[in-house]
Amino acid sequence: MKNNDVEQVDKEQLIPNQEIENKKSDFDNNTSQNPNETHQQEDTEKKEEKRFLSNKKFKKFDKARYREQKCREWEIKIVNQNMKDDKLGLYIHIPFCDRKCDYCDFVSYSMDENAQHDFQQALFKEIDMYRTQCEKMVFNSIYIGGGTPSVMYEGFIYELARKVYSTFHFEGDIEFTIEVNPNSVTYDKLLEYLRAGVNRVSVGVQCIDSKILKNVGRFQTIENIDNTFDLLKKMGFINTSADVMIGLPNQSLDAVKDTINYLIDKNVKHISVYTLQLEENTPLYKNVKMGKIKPLGDEACIKMYNTVTKMLKENGFIRYEVSNFAIPTYESRHNFKYWKDVDYLGLGVSAHSFLENYRFSNTCRLDEYIDMLNNGQFPIVNKEFIRDSERRTEYIMLSLRLATGLNLEKFRKRFKEDLLKTRAKQIHDLIKNGYLYIEDGFLKIAPQHFYVSNRIILELL
Ligand code: SF4
Repeated sequence: MKNNDVEQVDKEQLIPNQEIENKKSDFDNNTSQNPNETHQQEDTEKKEEKRFLSNKKFKKFDKARYREQKCREWEIKIVNQNMKDDKLGLYIHIPFCDRKCDYCDFVSYSMDENAQHDFQQALFKEIDMYRTQCEKMVFNSIYIGGGTPSVMYEGFIYELARKVYSTFHFEGDIEFTIEVNPNSVTYDKLLEYLRAGVNRVSVGVQCIDSKILKNVGRFQTIENIDNTFDLLKKMGFINTSADVMIGLPNQSLDAVKDTINYLIDKNVKHISVYTLQLEENTPLYKNVKMGKIKPLGDEACIKMYNTVTKMLKENGFIRYEVSNFAIPTYESRHNFKYWKDVDYLGLGVSAHSFLENYRFSNTCRLDEYIDMLNNGQFPIVNKEFIRDSERRTEYIMLSLRLATGLNLEKFRKRFKEDLLKTRAKQIHDLIKNGYLYIEDGFLKIAPQHFYVSNRIILELL
């Protein structure tokens, strides 16, 4: 569809003004509701939509177009709302996994409980070292990622949460996310996460076909995944997210559709979709180089991505960032901080931070991390001051990944540069070829080209 199709629809006819206002205020109120209220809200919205669509007066307007309109309103609301958040995010990297997946180049080790205890002691020392430095900072999100946080011994997350709460200053509702893998989740661990204050669980589903996953050295079954979602439901975790991978060797379009349908059926509120990347020095990379495994081509991946986008949109999800889709109000608050220039503190092996114009990262080596902290040193191995020229580049890259695009006026004020002049030729060509468009002062990537957004963005840097 053309980008301005929605604009061609008369809003007055689409939905009466009062209804638009009602829905807007419903949406505003929704952000501070508890999960049960949010459920009722969803039911009411579905009923309203049904009533609206069955109204003979509006029958010449089709459902797809109505949804398109609602999606646009929500996308803008979601992004704008999160743009106002200026509190810090806290990221904690847990560097352990059951075993290493063949494609993975994240920092993770397969280790025993002793190593986990040594890591815990080092991590707690690191937290203590930031106590004074972060005294005046206010946080409102915690994200425990990895690695696989759910492989940690029972009691670890609870103790960690207590340590964090007693060290850093939090204000308002806290979004507290933990990543889990289906084969290491247990009832007791989820109970512990609840007691620790976790209110968002991100499940590493990737694909529900275990044969496809086995092919890339990831071992989990549909029973593991079913069990995880059953437990989450029974224990009242409503804000659930799932990671999905596309472009896996031997993965068909139908396999991708099955995974998405499965997650919709499980009432997952947020889905992140990533394309398999061939990282050097991984077993998968070697297997591909030796011709043992054939990767899927770009064309197949684009088709998968576009299919996922369509399916999710039809089921009420908003694509608020290139790889991230959410039912309205369930977008990830923590991840927004990375995309919008807000400070965050990263703790643990290989964690990255961005504080007061400095970007710094911890060592990727577990032994070095533990040694440095045992010697009273911060485990930081890289630190750089981020100049405005670099922030400009990041601003372009990150804002174009968001559905709302780049605010040209804000960019001009912030960086004293009129992008339409300094990148006139590139922007002109990209618009002419349908990759970019300008709407209400925002430079945006055309939705059908989101998958190749990185290539488009490179043209503008
Ligand atoms: S579970 Fe995740 S972090 Fe761990 S090895 Fe696999 S891809 Fe890497």
